[in-house]
Amino acid sequence: MRWHRIRFVHLLTLFVSTSILAMFVLQLMASYFETKESLYETTFKLNYESASKMGVTMGSVFRAMENTLRGNASHIAEQAERGGDPQPHVDHFMDSNNFFNGIMVVGAEGKVLAASENLAGLKGTGLTDEEARIALLSREPTLSAPYRSTDGNLMVLMTSPVFDAAGRYAGYVAGTIHLAEPNVLNDIFGAGAMSESGSYIYVVDPSGVILFHPDPARLGDSEAANSVVRKLMDGASGYEKVKNTRGKVFLAGYASVAENGWGIVVQTPVEEIHGKARRVLLREIGYSSPFFALLLLVTIWMAGKLAAPFSVLADTAERLVAGSRTEELPNPAFLSYEANQLHRTVMMAIGQLQKRAEHFLHESLTDPLTGLANRRTMESWMSERIRGRQPFSVILLDIDRFKRINDTFGHPLGDEVLRFLAGNMLVQVRKGDLCCRYGGEEFAILLPDTTAREAFGIAERIRMKMESAVSPTGEPVTISCGVAAYPDHAATARDLLENADLALYEAKRAGRNRTAIFGRDFSQSV
Ligand code: GH3
Ligand code: MG
Ligand code: MG
Repeated sequence: MRWHRIRFVHLLTLFVSTSILAMFVLQLMASYFETKESLYETTFKLNYESASKMGVTMGSVFRAMENTLRGNASHIAEQAERGGDPQPHVDHFMDSNNFFNGIMVVGAEGKVLAASENLAGLKGTGLTDEEARIALLSREPTLSAPYRSTDGNLMVLMTSPVFDAAGRYAGYVAGTIHLAEPNVLNDIFGAGAMSESGSYIYVVDPSGVILFHPDPARLGDSEAANSVVRKLMDGASGYEKVKNTRGKVFLAGYASVAENGWGIVVQTPVEEIHGKARRVLLREIGYSSPFFALLLLVTIWMAGKLAAPFSVLADTAERLVAGSRTEELPNPAFLSYEANQLHRTVMMAIGQLQKRAEHFLHESLTDPLTGLANRRTMESWMSERIRGRQPFSVILLDIDRFKRINDTFGHPLGDEVLRFLAGNMLVQVRKGDLCCRYGGEEFAILLPDTTAREAFGIAERIRMKMESAVSPTGEPVTISCGVAAYPDHAATARDLLENADLALYEAKRAGRNRTAIFGRDFSQSV
């Protein structure tokens, strides 16, 4: 498409509709990003807060667990002093506790002296696990990393040392948390582990190994490469956007538990947030699109109205150039004052110019005294006919003794007589014939498709009318006529007029008040 062919109304419409659509899209984009931003913020805050709260809860539960183990350890030490079997105490302890999945009493040599029912298989054996060995050697309260015990349980071992009255080390009491079974962590986190919004909680130990996760398959996995888990391993709390080891992105809030170095993460997949933001966006599109559609329609309509004067003016200009007159063109009303004013003024100015041009054209083609065609019109009429080789006749008329009329009655009355003759000529000719004044008191009539004989008849009619009519002088004024025909009597306009003039001269010579045809003996033509 060539640019200069595009109509203004289309350009304007394109421009306004593009602007409105761009505005619509920008507004939606802005609101989408704003929604996303605020959802991010809210989610971060919520996740961080719940991680912190869970951390506090976890910390106090952990302290209670430690206290329980410590209390039982001193009880067992007293019992051992008395030489009693620790097993009934372990069974009693097991029945009354809500913290541990299993309980064992391990002697100073590392042999299991008593164990709860679910660990009964270990009773009497020496524990060989690295974690049990560390607990035995440390002689302090310990908390292990998750490990798989000899009987296949994925567990965490929590211990408290046992010292006899003399202060000799007598082994330890151990509570186990079995990660794959319902346990104390489920009690604390279980309810909010996985929410409807896709948020979930997981817990890692100080080395980044997963202790609790809604997906049981992840238990015992290391998340140490995760940036949030690394911060937890450093004891930090906070929130951030994080990519997990499987490449999924989350908004995570995290808090570490001061008491045991565990870390709690509450996180929401960003897809979830984006989905929510998209739903908000769609709702907004639903609300605002009718409004924008209406705005679009109104502006397109307005653009059409505003551009209308340009197309009308352009069309008007084209039609004026092609020859239309201002009166023939429509006169529409536009929306704006300026457009109406411009259109009216232009039409008025051009209308006046057209009238003036017509006036001048008329003047240049007519004789002012009689209103008949002038010599210029006559010549162009004849050359056009001759160019088309279309036959016609010419009558030349001359007033007899006109000098005498002027001398007797004065020049102004002479003019009256000229007008009187012109009037008579016009009455006698047919439609399509052209009456002209081509000299002082010399007139001509051009008769298309007329033979010399027919022209003679018309000339005679006029001559006889003059002969019998009362002229402005008070008495008849006579005329003499000469007739010649194209192409019979001449091939050019000039020769034709010359020959008609010869005939006229013949009529004068023969005594005036008569008509002569060129080339005919005068006595024949009367
Ligand atoms: P004839 O034609 O019969 O031979 O005699 P004439 O007296 O008419 O002679 P001619 O045609 O030669 O005379 C023309 C006269 O017409 C000369 C001039 O005074 C007069 N005349 C020419 N133009 C005008 C005009 O516009 N108004 C008036 N009143 N007289 C005119
Ligand atoms: Mg004359
Ligand atoms: Mg004359």
